[in-house]
Amino acid sequence: MAATTQQIDAWLEAHRDELIQFLQQLVRIPSESLPPKGSEAAAQAFVEGAYRAAGAEVDVFDPIDVPGLTEHPVYHPVWGDMDRSLENRPCVVGVFRGTGGGRSLLMSSHIDTVGADDPALWTEAGPFSADIIDGKMYGRGTYDTKAGIATGLFAIRCIRELGLELKGDVIVESVSDEEFGGSHGTLACRLKGYNADIAINCEPTNMHVAAATRGGGQWRIEVQGEAGMALGGVERVSSSYKIAWVIEALRQYNLKRNAEIPTPPLYAHEPGLPLYVSQIGGGGDTFAEDQGAAPPSCYANMWCEVYPGTTAEEHAEEIQTFVNGYLDGIEGFDGEYPEYTLELRFLPGSETSTAHPIFGHLEDAYQATHREYVVQGAPFASDGYVFNLHSPTPVVTVGVGGDNAHAPNEYIYVQDLIDLTRIFARTMVSWCG
Ligand SMILES: [Zn+2]
Repeated sequence: MAATTQQIDAWLEAHRDELIQFLQQLVRIPSESLPPKGSEAAAQAFVEGAYRAAGAEVDVFDPIDVPGLTEHPVYHPVWGDMDRSLENRPCVVGVFRGTGGGRSLLMSSHIDTVGADDPALWTEAGPFSADIIDGKMYGRGTYDTKAGIATGLFAIRCIRELGLELKGDVIVESVSDEEFGGSHGTLACRLKGYNADIAINCEPTNMHVAAATRGGGQWRIEVQGEAGMALGGVERVSSSYKIAWVIEALRQYNLKRNAEIPTPPLYAHEPGLPLYVSQIGGGGDTFAEDQGAAPPSCYANMWCEVYPGTTAEEHAEEIQTFVNGYLDGIEGFDGEYPEYTLELRFLPGSETSTAHPIFGHLEDAYQATHREYVVQGAPFASDGYVFNLHSPTPVVTVGVGGDNAHAPNEYIYVQDLIDLTRIFARTMVSWCG
């Protein structure tokens, strides 16, 4: 293995610029998911070409064309109040067959990104520039998760170009429709039969090895109240007051649950679950509402996360019981409870036991790369649940370091791109045999 380690290092050194340039090219092809559509096709054509050039058996397909997708419980073609488009959103899978008798490994990343938003907000470098400044590569999708596509591909290229034969198969996949609770690309690949002894999902973990991902859901909470003006001098229970009570109830709910729910060991480094009220609205629909009258309804949008093991139904029940109970205690509350709607799908959390043998292989690969090996739970929800709860393939999540996912100035550390490719190449050698 020592000789192999040196060979891998030498190959990566010789192909360092090519790896960086591959990611830059990929980032320069926008693949934004913008409601209700995605625009992955051009970037996926580039990935397909790269998989073919590397010698993979390549499969390109739209999730919607995969038998069983629309009957699956994970199928959820909704984007807020819109129908989610699943047309022309290809997934690309590349299979590198082993010689037989070894364990298989699946490297999964998503090609779609959130929108770049206003380019003027990108103060460091343009959203599709892929410029490198002080060791950081900037661009939408660098971190979430185009770097994952680059690391998986270059790791298997390294093995093959060194002439190292693996017994087990290595599968690389670039899936569509992950952002905003998509999951259809990841599900489609599972239903098409691309499963393995272990999957590595390359969501950005800042080089940590995540054995778990949290669950989460985006909720819309809407309240109705007495509209208009109280010319008789009586105070009205307006929807604007009610939404303020709801928001305070949500704050109290989050404080209470974080005080009561035990922190799972994988999350001991970062106790506490997040809840964000991301948007508040109401009123302005009529002239009267702009002239000082109360609107008939108001809403708050909220993102709330849970630890693995909590179902959507349990979570909804818990929030509603708390918020409705809080409102019952408000003097002047009119008795009409809010309406709670799940805006996107609920993404369950999930977990792979740290007793799984992949962890030992990853630890060795980290040590040989002189990078710190830390196992913990990832502080986000992802498609990991599709593997753990709906396929025979368990998953761990490992991705590069950087910052500003879903925000301006998204970036990765270029050195992490190189080091993680080394780690993946070493893991392939030891895991696949
Ligand atoms: Zn994302």
